[in-house]
Amino acid sequence: MRLLEWQGREVLARVGIPVPPGGLARSPAEAHRIAAELGKPVVLKAQVPVGGRGKAGGVRLAQSPAEAERLAQEMLGSTLKGFRVESLLVLEAVTPRAEHYLGLTLDRSRRMPLFLYSPQGGVEIEEVARQSPHLVSREAVPPLEGPSAFRLRRLFALAPAPLRPALMDLAKKLWQAFLTYEAHLVEINPLAEVDGKLWALDAKVILDDDHSPGPQFEGLSEAGADPLEAEAKAAGMSYVRLDGEIGILGNGAGLVMATLDLVVQAGGRPANFLDIGGGARAERVKKGVEIILKDGRAKVLFVNVFGGITRCDEVARGLVEALQGKDLPVVIRLVGTNEEEGRRILEGAGFVPVRTMEEGAARAVALSKGV
Ligand code: GDP
Ligand code: MN
Repeated sequence: MRLLEWQGREVLARVGIPVPPGGLARSPAEAHRIAAELGKPVVLKAQVPVGGRGKAGGVRLAQSPAEAERLAQEMLGSTLKGFRVESLLVLEAVTPRAEHYLGLTLDRSRRMPLFLYSPQGGVEIEEVARQSPHLVSREAVPPLEGPSAFRLRRLFALAPAPLRPALMDLAKKLWQAFLTYEAHLVEINPLAEVDGKLWALDAKVILDDDHSPGPQFEGLSEAGADPLEAEAKAAGMSYVRLDGEIGILGNGAGLVMATLDLVVQAGGRPANFLDIGGGARAERVKKGVEIILKDGRAKVLFVNVFGGITRCDEVARGLVEALQGKDLPVVIRLVGTNEEEGRRILEGAGFVPVRTMEEGAARAVALSKGV
C-alpha cells in the first residue's frame, strides 16, 4: 500500500527526519488557519497517491493565508492525475540551495535492501539514472549487518563533503523507518539542502500489504490506498490502476497477467485490470465492471474469462446487467463451464464474444485507437 505524502511524512518525522512544519487541511478555512499559524509563505500540496504532482499543478506556492485559502478552494475537489483531491498539506515554503535524492528499497535480485542516492534530486530518479548514470550511487545492505559506516561512506561519495555526516545520519534513520514499518520503499525526493541542513520536502512510502500488525501503523490508516483498490478489495477482488485506455476484467491472476501481456503486445495500453477471482457470481462481475469504469479512464472493456468453478452464464449475466444502456465498446472472450448458455445470454443482449484471447486483444486495441 502506498501511503499518501502526509502519512509518509509522519513516518519520517517519527524516526527523527526533519520535515518542514505545517499540517493537513481538508477545507480552505483550515488551509488559511495553518498558513496564518506558520506566518510565512506556504506550499499547498495535493494529497494523491501518485508522483509528478509538481508538474501537474498539484504543488502551489501561496504568499499569504488569504492566497492559501483561495488556492485551496481551487485545488480541493479537483481531479489530479485521475484522483480526487480530498486534502492538502500546507507546509512552510523553503528555498532549497540544492535538491538531493535518497531512497531505500528492496532489491529482489540481490535479495537485499538497496540505498539509492543522487545529489541531483527533485526530478524522477529513473530520469537521472538514464541521463546521468554517474550521478546515482547504489549500495546494497545485508539486512543482518545494517547500514555500516563504510557502506554509507561509499553511498555518499558523490555528495558534497560537508553534507556527508548529515546524510549518513539520515540514511540510518531511513533504515529504521524501512524496518519498523515493513516498507518496500521509503523515498525522499527532494531531500532539500537549506542553510546547510537537510529537509525531507516529499515522502513516498510503500508498505508491504502483508505487514505484521503493530501499534506503529496506528494513524496511518488505509485511507492512503487507492479508493478503487479498496473498493475492489472489500468486494473480494483485486484491482490495479494503470495508465492506458483499455479496461481489463478476468478471473485468476495468471489469466489476467497473460491478458495484459497480449494487449501490450498488440500495441495497446491497459487502463487498469481487475481479477474477479474464482467462482464469481453475476453480482460480483457487475460490481467489477463498475469499478473498472468508475474513473472514466477505460475507453474499451476487454473481458477474458475462463470458466472453471466460475460459470460463464453467471459472468454473462453480470456483464449484461453492468453494461446495459452504456455505449462503451466491449470485447468479450468467455470459454469453459456453461459456455453455450453464457454466449446465448450475451448474444441476446447484442454482444458477440470472440473465440480467442489473441483475437480479443487485437480487437480491443483497434477499438481503443478508434479504428
Ligand atoms: P511530486 O512532484 O509529486 O514528487 O511532489 P514534490 O513534493 O516532490 O514537489 C514537487 C516539487 O515542488 C519539488 O521537486 C520541489 O522543487 C518543489 N517544492 C516542494 N516543496 C517546496 C517548498 O517548500 N519550497 C520550494 N521552493 N519548492 C518546493
Ligand atoms: Mn517528489
